[in-house]
Amino acid sequence: MSSAAIPISTSAGSSGRPKRAKLSGWGRYPALDCDLYRPEKFSELASIVASNASSILARGAGRAYGDAALNADNRVVDLTRLDRMISFDPPSATLSAEAGVTLSEIIDVFLPRGFFPAVVPGTRYVTLGGSIAADIHGKSHHRDSSFARQVKSFNLLLASGEIRRCSREENADFFWATVGGMGLTGVILEVELELRRVESAWLEGEEIRAPNLDAALEAFERTDSQYDNSVAWIDCASGAGKLGRSILTVANFAPRNSLPPAMRQEPFAIQPKFQPSVPFDLPNFALNPLTVRTFNAAIYAMHRGNARPKRFDYQSFFFPLDSIHNWNRIYGKRGFVQYQCVWPETESRAGLIETLEAIGASRRGSFLTVLKKFGAQDGILSFPMPGYTLALDFPVADGLMEFLDRLDAMVLARGGRVYLAKDARMRPETFHAMYPNLPRWQQIKASIDPNHRFSSSLARRAMMIPA
Ligand SMILES: Cc1cc2nc3c(=O)[nH]c(=O)nc-3n(C[C@H](O)[C@H](O)[C@H](O)COP(=O)(O)OP(=O)(O)OC[C@H]3O[C@@H](n4cnc5c(N)ncnc54)[C@H](O)[C@@H]3O)c2cc1C
Repeated sequence: MSSAAIPISTSAGSSGRPKRAKLSGWGRYPALDCDLYRPEKFSELASIVASNASSILARGAGRAYGDAALNADNRVVDLTRLDRMISFDPPSATLSAEAGVTLSEIIDVFLPRGFFPAVVPGTRYVTLGGSIAADIHGKSHHRDSSFARQVKSFNLLLASGEIRRCSREENADFFWATVGGMGLTGVILEVELELRRVESAWLEGEEIRAPNLDAALEAFERTDSQYDNSVAWIDCASGAGKLGRSILTVANFAPRNSLPPAMRQEPFAIQPKFQPSVPFDLPNFALNPLTVRTFNAAIYAMHRGNARPKRFDYQSFFFPLDSIHNWNRIYGKRGFVQYQCVWPETESRAGLIETLEAIGASRRGSFLTVLKKFGAQDGILSFPMPGYTLALDFPVADGLMEFLDRLDAMVLARGGRVYLAKDARMRPETFHAMYPNLPRWQQIKASIDPNHRFSSSLARRAMMIPA
């Protein structure tokens, strides 16, 4: 199991008593004092939930960026010790596992046997519980939709202490309110997840260099039906004429027969790579408009030619950032905010231009900017909608929150929304306007948790749920 964003003592809360701990998400902003439990057995978890000492929140691997997995001055239950795999049924490719199991552990066990999760985010170090609660998406959203699509059922521990099996057929309201419900309906316990069959650990595809945004969008649309996975890195520091210049990477899992003969013998073997680590917080001035511009220009220049075929190992393709341990330290002690928004299809191009221009004018370069295409989406509070999504990383600095409020207003005016799993600062009126299904979710929450036993810092800030 990988460690949470801020290292915590392994003895925290395992004795049945909580430990006061300063917790944060992956962006390390905000960092808040919470009463942390780390139960090892279901019976310990059940008694923590049964006590109404203060509000409570489940936490997975702490990879949400902002305050989704924080509950300031209230209780947080870290579920990473409830991490048993229970059973696997090969004919239906269905794994039953506890919610604290990470996708990394699933890949380690099942990829050598020819199975892989159909939807993975940009890091493998997330738990099943966190993946359902945020209804995460991956590079295949245009094909596979979000994580919930592969979830057959889960057991949910309610505020009342009851456990309910939730699926599309059974307690369907609880199922849909928990998917994307950010831990506020109860604690997800065991999960039934359908995996995808793959014939190798390799992907084959293309890297396409797009000199501007229109070329990037054209390349996404042109390759859409051919490739299951697509993602573009955008140079958000490029100016007029080059606005939105990108490197689009598209790929499918390689069938065994398409690999060179030597690799066909062991299609799931990939060489371990050196994994550097960022050993300490970089000083706040290390990331400035000049370094961001230089870094982005260098990446673009490294990719020569318009399009080139390429083979990727799954780790480099899906989880490139995992290869540098603690990369979140490059943003310095104040941390960073990831801003991820989506626009409906018809508004995506205009929304992207407007946002990239506003970032250029603000001189707040985003070190890493990623563009993806979303397809069909079910759910009540799930973030995706058909259209394009942009994710930007901004170091916390004076004036940042006001600037992001301006981006919110622009996204909202075009019918778009901002992702809760990345958020640390959205205002409640913005959240309410961006998520039109909120009243339905609130109704289900009121029926399942009338006294708001489950709450979080995010819930109180953006959703106006009391502690
Ligand atoms: C490098 C990086 C790349 C990422 N890329 C993507 C991406 O491509 N797509 C994407 O969608 N997301 C992405 N994310 C965000 C991440 O996938 C989500 O935030 C995910 O929810 C994190 O899972 P976790 O186990 O760390 O949960 P945590 O961060 O610990 O918690 C997240 C939410 O889940 C709830 N939760 C956790 N466990 C349970 C449980 N057992 N029962 C009930 N609620 C629970 C928490 O209360 C909280 O609201 C990325 C994050 C990082 C750091």
